[in-house]
Amino acid sequence: MTNSRTVIVTGGAGFIGSHLCEALLERGYKVISVDNFSTGDQRSIEHLVSRSDFISIEHDITESPTSLLQYQDVEYIFNLACPASPIQYQKDPLKTISTNVLGTKNMLDVAVQYNATFIQASTSEVYGDPEVHPQPEDYVGHVNTVGPRACYDEGKRCAETLCYEYARQKKITTKIARIFNTYGPRMAHDDGRVVSNFIMQALHNKPITLYGNGLQTRSFQYVSDTVNGLLALAFHSHFHGPVNIGSEFELTMQELATKICTLAHSQSTFVYQPLPADDPKQRRPDTRLAKTELGIEAETSVDSGLLQTIEYFASTL
Ligand code: NAD
Ligand code: UDP
Repeated sequence: MTNSRTVIVTGGAGFIGSHLCEALLERGYKVISVDNFSTGDQRSIEHLVSRSDFISIEHDITESPTSLLQYQDVEYIFNLACPASPIQYQKDPLKTISTNVLGTKNMLDVAVQYNATFIQASTSEVYGDPEVHPQPEDYVGHVNTVGPRACYDEGKRCAETLCYEYARQKKITTKIARIFNTYGPRMAHDDGRVVSNFIMQALHNKPITLYGNGLQTRSFQYVSDTVNGLLALAFHSHFHGPVNIGSEFELTMQELATKICTLAHSQSTFVYQPLPADDPKQRRPDTRLAKTELGIEAETSVDSGLLQTIEYFASTL
């Protein structure tokens, strides 16, 4: 690999990361994926590993980053490494905190060495269970610091703070993308998030598991729109965010379940299970900043995105 126009993507073998790696390769960048394969899957990047402009490194970002300093001309670091599904990030909460805090700090140190622009994959979870709807970027959030989601929410909030202090003290460029619920091909079948759960259940005609009364809302964005948002933020000449990267297609979980059953021609019935603690009741991004500063908005309709995702799951059963 020659080392010009190189990008590091942590979490590159994950769901969003693998799509981001592809999009960067399409734009002529050389891509180094850094992943510990905890929730990521080698199969997500197996079509890329034979390329001379792609390197996959098995590395945990909480470990010393020295081995990542051997490249030259690293222009961008996208920091996506972190499990995103509540079931996954709650398996080892201390690891989730250290991935977000120590891991992000390690990768910021790498960015300092390369003078690279650092793009942090933050999350709508920094708003917690929001009391303001939709959520604008200047809403400071409503997070339970001691609840089961806090390892992720507070870890991501601290990661944002680290980005700001590295920009102020170390004079590097850091940018923050607050990603909202993203779905699409290459979500793990057993990932535990709502879209993958419902699609797997629908395809097997098993009962759809609605948590609580199913009236809580999320706004779902197809993965290509999320990747476009991350790229628009990274390549913008001066805008740093934080900026919401998400769609305004807000649905209750009941509406989502009905849609998936219809699109998948499923006979599934619904079962109601307890609502997990601190589960946000509503979530929708205020997308005005993304539109005005980045000129982006979600292009893929929920029906079209879900259909493509259902087809992917059906083809990989
Ligand atoms: P994912 O679980 O599919 O991908 C995460 C990747 O990070 C995996 O490949 C995993 O193996 C890797 N990883 C985890 N811990 C690591 C560590 N310590 N060192 C190295 N690699 C590690 O999740 P995703 O949906 O692709 O999410 C990617 C990023 O986007 C995450 O940071 C997540 O918080 C953020 N995000 C995602 C969503 C969403 O809806 N998908 C929403 C908001 C934010
Ligand atoms: N959910 C559900 N059934 C499932 C999985 C999730 O009803 O099988 C609900 C969950 O309680 C939450 C919403 O779907 O209200 C989104 O959950 P997910 O884990 O996908 O993401 P997050 O809560 O982090 O937005």
